Amino acid sequence: MAQIGEIANGIVGHESPISRLRKLLDADKLPTAMLFVGPEGIGKKIVAKFVAQYYVCENQNACGKCGKCVRILNEQSEDVFFLKPDGDFLKIEVVREALQFLSLKALARGKFVIIDNADAMTMQAANALLKSLEEPPANTFFILISANPLRLLATIRSRCQIHRFQPLSLSDVHAVLIRHGDTAGTVEEWMLRASEGRCGKILRWTQGGGERLRDKAFTFVRVLLDPSWPPSFLSISDVVENKIEAQDMINLVLQILRDSYLFAFGLREQIIHSDRSERLAEFAKAGPKTLVRVWQKALRLENDLESPMDLKLSLENLYFESRAALSAPLYALD
Ligand SMILES: [Zn+2]
Repeated sequence: MAQIGEIANGIVGHESPISRLRKLLDADKLPTAMLFVGPEGIGKKIVAKFVAQYYVCENQNACGKCGKCVRILNEQSEDVFFLKPDGDFLKIEVVREALQFLSLKALARGKFVIIDNADAMTMQAANALLKSLEEPPANTFFILISANPLRLLATIRSRCQIHRFQPLSLSDVHAVLIRHGDTAGTVEEWMLRASEGRCGKILRWTQGGGERLRDKAFTFVRVLLDPSWPPSFLSISDVVENKIEAQDMINLVLQILRDSYLFAFGLREQIIHSDRSERLAEFAKAGPKTLVRVWQKALRLENDLESPMDLKLSLENLYFESRAALSAPLYALD
């Protein structure tokens, strides 16, 4: 039997949830519904594929080489139905397709439905799925994947066995990047640190736009901290193109504000964007109180972004609220 670490797909990290899942698989006690919870872009889906491979593999060990294993990895499997949102939502039509797939005769020991970003299900989609979770066909397994499990229907959450996933360590991130072809170590140091263990983010950034996005984040912080800059300086609607980019950017804004705060106290070794220390030194002049205030407002925006919303409006709110915070007398602030 393959050892952990040598298993299919070259999974890196996640030893603890994998070990628990293997025990369930080996004991033939895999629950019908599982919920994989953890930050976006750390490899939850690859582990979900491993579980399905382990169950249906022709060599019974998720060999990663047999036809069944390869087709699962490529998401072209006769045994696994993959669902993901189309745009911001996962609609009932797709869930119905999955349920239809489950009604067909099984071609292996069992069938799997893997739902990525399950929290994007519409109410209708979630209710359709719930019916199947309540009365699942025999030898059927559902793996729901979510970075925002609280957005799932409580009735769905309560039907699932929860498996928690942690961000990867820096060395694990390196290992994943090498597997994705970055043998020369060309990924920028700041991207490694700023990813906070989310490989998906680095892969997205290296495919283009990472550097540009960080430039925008630095400019945005500059505008937030300096009330003398006219609003027209930055056309806010041009800042980001979609929700993922907005989340990445707000996350970078939070890191830059935190870095500036650390810079003000001389805590250089914990700084993420240390290659931009001149800009951080400039921002640090705003003072710790201001940095914390703007950081709190940006943090609230980051939380708001978890739900569907008007991006442009939210960024504008952050801008005007920060401005108000900077010009208001101290006692007037919450
Ligand atoms: Zn196999």
